[in-house]
Amino acid sequence: TELLAKPIEKIRTQMEDLQKADASISRIRELFATKSAIVDGPGERLPDGPLGVQFRDVTFSYDGDQPTIKSLSLELKPGDVLGLLGRTGSGKSTMARLLLRFYDPQSGSIALGGTDIRSCKLADLRKRVAMVTQNIEIMQGTVRDNLTFYDDSIPDERIIEVLEDLGLRAWYESLPEGLDTLLASGGGSLSAGEAQLLAFARVFLTDPGLVIMDEASSRLDPLTELRMEKAVSKLLEARSCIMIAHRLSTVQRADHILILDDGKIMESGKREQLAADPTSRFSQLLATGLEEVLA
Ligand code: ADP
Repeated sequence: TELLAKPIEKIRTQMEDLQKADASISRIRELFATKSAIVDGPGERLPDGPLGVQFRDVTFSYDGDQPTIKSLSLELKPGDVLGLLGRTGSGKSTMARLLLRFYDPQSGSIALGGTDIRSCKLADLRKRVAMVTQNIEIMQGTVRDNLTFYDDSIPDERIIEVLEDLGLRAWYESLPEGLDTLLASGGGSLSAGEAQLLAFARVFLTDPGLVIMDEASSRLDPLTELRMEKAVSKLLEARSCIMIAHRLSTVQRADHILILDDGKIMESGKREQLAADPTSRFSQLLATGLEEVLA
């Protein structure tokens, strides 16, 4: 054993070095994968009004190896609502990130209103597509800046109108300095419900043609729930929407349903048709209750 100790020790340190090298190689690969050419498009304009969505045979992988989205095709007409379902890790958020061009697919293409999203300006794209998530980011700044993202073409009257529409009048009136009141980064004194409603206010003020909603999976208080319901109805009036849904009540609003499984479409179709077909996965989900199944 005395004889073997040295070589074994040597092999061990070499193994460690190799592991370290391997880790840095994956980090470099990650960097290349994420930095790979998200270049601004030549500036083709996205059309006004609700935006139709088209995924054409989209394949995407974070690490350039294992695909997360696999040959996915999808067509959503302008103004329609898609209910996106699927287990955690099935690729729902990844689809949203692709739509906003945080990443580009390795193959296939994504179009909004008939325009390939790689041919328009990133600023235009991110103005016309809004994302509402459960983890709303409040930045340190005034209420106004938080709501308009420094777009000073939005008049105060419009901001106040939107806050009133969302049932935030009393909240607004309680602010010591109105729209100039400073918010702490992270939200500080805001309740979860208020923060959610402010996220909606942002969307109304930027007036996008497509809203991607990742609905809160945790319950809010009943009053906030009611306000959210109303806000969502209003939001959907003149926009296309992709809803990452966790609840039955939200799914009822969808025109189409897409169930994602491991980056592939397990089932898709008109909500009413799928709901009426007892053999569909969707009607089985309805019967079981989404919350348990999709967790
Ligand atoms: P969902 O939104 O349906 O829960 P995601 O789109 O977040 O699913 O994740 C899909 C798959 O991609 C998961 O296996 C997840 O681990 C992986 N993934 C998500 N984000 C990243 C990332 N930034 N880098 C590498 N893999 C990721």
